[in-house]
Amino acid sequence: MLVVVDGALSPPDVTAARLWTVAGLSLAGILHTEAALSVERLRRRVDETPHLDLSSVWTFAAALLLPGCMATAVVLLVYSHLYLRAWRPSGFPPYRVVFSTATVVLAVHAAAAVARLAGDADLFRTPVGLAVVALAVVAYASVNLLLVVAAIRMTGPRTTWRRAVGHGDELQLELATLAMGAVLAAAVTVFGAEYALLALPPLVVLHRTVLVRQFEVAASTDAKTGLLNAVAWRLQAERALRAARHAEATVAVLLLDLDHFKLVNDRYGHLAGDEVLTDIGAVLRAEVRDEDVVGRYGGEEFVVLLASTEGEDLRTTAGAVADRIRRRIDEMRPEVSGPRGPVVLDDVSVSVGVATFPADGTDLDRLLEVADAALYAAKAAGRNLVRHGLHAFEGTGDDGVEPVDGAVSDGQPVRGS
Ligand code: GH3
Ligand code: MG
Ligand code: MG
Repeated sequence: MLVVVDGALSPPDVTAARLWTVAGLSLAGILHTEAALSVERLRRRVDETPHLDLSSVWTFAAALLLPGCMATAVVLLVYSHLYLRAWRPSGFPPYRVVFSTATVVLAVHAAAAVARLAGDADLFRTPVGLAVVALAVVAYASVNLLLVVAAIRMTGPRTTWRRAVGHGDELQLELATLAMGAVLAAAVTVFGAEYALLALPPLVVLHRTVLVRQFEVAASTDAKTGLLNAVAWRLQAERALRAARHAEATVAVLLLDLDHFKLVNDRYGHLAGDEVLTDIGAVLRAEVRDEDVVGRYGGEEFVVLLASTEGEDLRTTAGAVADRIRRRIDEMRPEVSGPRGPVVLDDVSVSVGVATFPADGTDLDRLLEVADAALYAAKAAGRNLVRHGLHAFEGTGDDGVEPVDGAVSDGQPVRGS
């Protein structure tokens, strides 16, 4: 610890070699921005999270090779240029740029402090050095992630931790970028600062790959709730159904429609309604397991496919799961911004229609039809109810809907309030 404090307070030893390293890394960072300019502009348009930045290749290498304040010079040069050329033209607010840059400066200082723990051991040629570099990666990533996630949560309390932290592959990408930074630092140490330029081509290719992935996510995500949109839900639900057919397992489809939602809009405005939808999305995601498929089906309608666990028979358990979700939503007290300030809503509820595979139907369209009819029955019976299965259809028999032997679906409310 003494070493860290010492290093942080004493003026850096500004040598020609270090200045050359600052110049090499900054120049490579600037060329990287120029090469990836169109990619970065597009990426910012589809991605709200500012923490995913491939510039950490340069800033992390700087943290390993330079004293903290000289590494800060690299950060400032690379980020000022990035701001002027990529972020400002795409309307990124300056305060967020200042925040992102400050976060990176702190992460660089954390990594540089850890790097100094190696003492006299060569960072790139000894096992101790390798362990210290790995620790520096962890320090850099943790500081960056913690600050960014805390800021996202503070500025948008509706953003769940899960959304703020991002996908697992974003973390992987960040770690991959830092690993590249470590390799780059080793190359610069052994061969010279001009070798920083060799990291450019793979980085630009990586940048493009990230963009494609983000377009995929944006195309399948409902922006208001972060859930799958209807098209993506269908694709994933079809896949889960195929797997269940193959494994002779059961699957349940839940169709949920908010009760009297128009009243929320009429009383408090559309934006308040949107806030409720966001909160409902979070409740749904929290109430089911990762392998269950949750989507926003339309305006204020949601859809969930429950996958069965080993040996579970969803014909008997789906109603209980649906009812647990119904209860959670009934107990929700979302705070929304009404025309005269914040309002807490205490009458949000949902009606749910349930259909199970294979009892109620063997393809997705059929299951959705049955769940929709059950939902309609729940609405007709007074709302804030769960109804399950075939008998929810009116005129069963005349419209070609036959009850399946052994199905437990009986059209009775599973539980009401
Ligand atoms: P019920 O389902 O209980 O019969 O009544 P309801 O009032 O919920 O049903 P209805 O289908 O008549 O109205 C749905 C309302 O949902 C109308 C529309 O204004 C609102 N809605 C749909 N999509 C959105 C959205 O994205 N945001 C907001 N704020 N409201 C939406
Ligand atoms: Mg509706
Ligand atoms: Mg409704």
